[in-house]
Amino acid sequence: MKIYLDYNSTSPALPEVVDAMRPYFSDMYGNPSNLYSSGRKAASAIETARAQVAELIGVDPASRIIFTGSATEATNLALSGIMRKQSASRRKLLISSVEHAATRETALALQKAGFELGIIPVNRNGQLNKQNLFEQLDDSVGLVSLIWANNETGTVLDLEGISDAVHSCGALLHLDAVQAVGKISVDTGNIGADLLSISGHKLYGPKGIGALYTGDGIELEPLIYGGGQEYHLRSGTQNVAGIVGLGTAAVICRERLNAYAEFTASLRNSFETALKAGLKNFIINGDPESRLPNTLNVSFPGENAEKIAMQLDRAGIEAATGSACASRKGISGVLAAMGCSPVETNGAVRFSFGWDNTVEEVDFTVKTLLTIINKPAGCGFTKTIKV
Ligand code: PLP
Repeated sequence: MKIYLDYNSTSPALPEVVDAMRPYFSDMYGNPSNLYSSGRKAASAIETARAQVAELIGVDPASRIIFTGSATEATNLALSGIMRKQSASRRKLLISSVEHAATRETALALQKAGFELGIIPVNRNGQLNKQNLFEQLDDSVGLVSLIWANNETGTVLDLEGISDAVHSCGALLHLDAVQAVGKISVDTGNIGADLLSISGHKLYGPKGIGALYTGDGIELEPLIYGGGQEYHLRSGTQNVAGIVGLGTAAVICRERLNAYAEFTASLRNSFETALKAGLKNFIINGDPESRLPNTLNVSFPGENAEKIAMQLDRAGIEAATGSACASRKGISGVLAAMGCSPVETNGAVRFSFGWDNTVEEVDFTVKTLLTIINKPAGCGFTKTIKV
């Protein structure tokens, strides 16, 4: 038996996605750069996928969607591409203190390369300190990059007023929408983002494919030079099957958005209710008013999250102790930035739900979790209190 509760880390490609991709590995193997028939067919499949992704993120189907190898690459392209193209007077990049490594590490690399970096703090719920952002905004800022929905806590940023403020000082806004798409309504036009990154494997598409949306007139310096594919911004023969898979997943996610949000929220909420009934000493991290429907991040103070995750794994349950990338590297910088104490951070486990989960799985997981935590010596560490 396996119970997978880590959909924020990755999701299985839907059968419809795999079916749509399959021909592009065999019969339809044309190189999209070629002008003869098989090349034109591949190129046309890419253009269809561009429009499908554009519709998912709420922009005109003819918008510029640049396909990349991952959201990490899309975000690198956004941050490096914009900062390297901005005028000499706009050398400052602003990010929040709870960004995914894709943004944080790129920003730090840019700082090493001589750009200025400003970090905007968040509150205990993971919401941005907007006042601080507004104070840091001036005509030296080239780009503001924010994580729309947090992968660890599920906090969905309140973006109201942000794009106006960013634009009024002449800067651009990039959003990491990797966790937002497919889970909440993403209306990029309305939000006023100039650039937005997404990833295939977080929305029931394939791994190894991501995309960056860029608004009209946005100029970028490429990361990869070569044959000029993807508007001369991401050279290299395209991953046609992956692109078709992402386009197909985008269509399905858009169609099923409300059903998905309702389904995963109901599982997440029953999990929370059962936990409350069996345990007193835990803290739910993230913004209770504005959280991804499928995400539950819980701190068990005094416990060790890695030990809990290992014991859950032994019972066939897969859950995370941080973001997929960070989970092998110890404690969460996101929770620390939100002001969680080390005891809360060390004991934080993330459960993220998806289409394949069931009520029975939720019941079994909570029961297992309570057994682990209520063991005489906790999960091998401090004893927690049972009520
Ligand atoms: N941004 C967020 C919020 C994520 O959760 C992830 C993946 O964990 C990424 C970026 C990177 O996505 P990819 O795996 O496509 O590089």
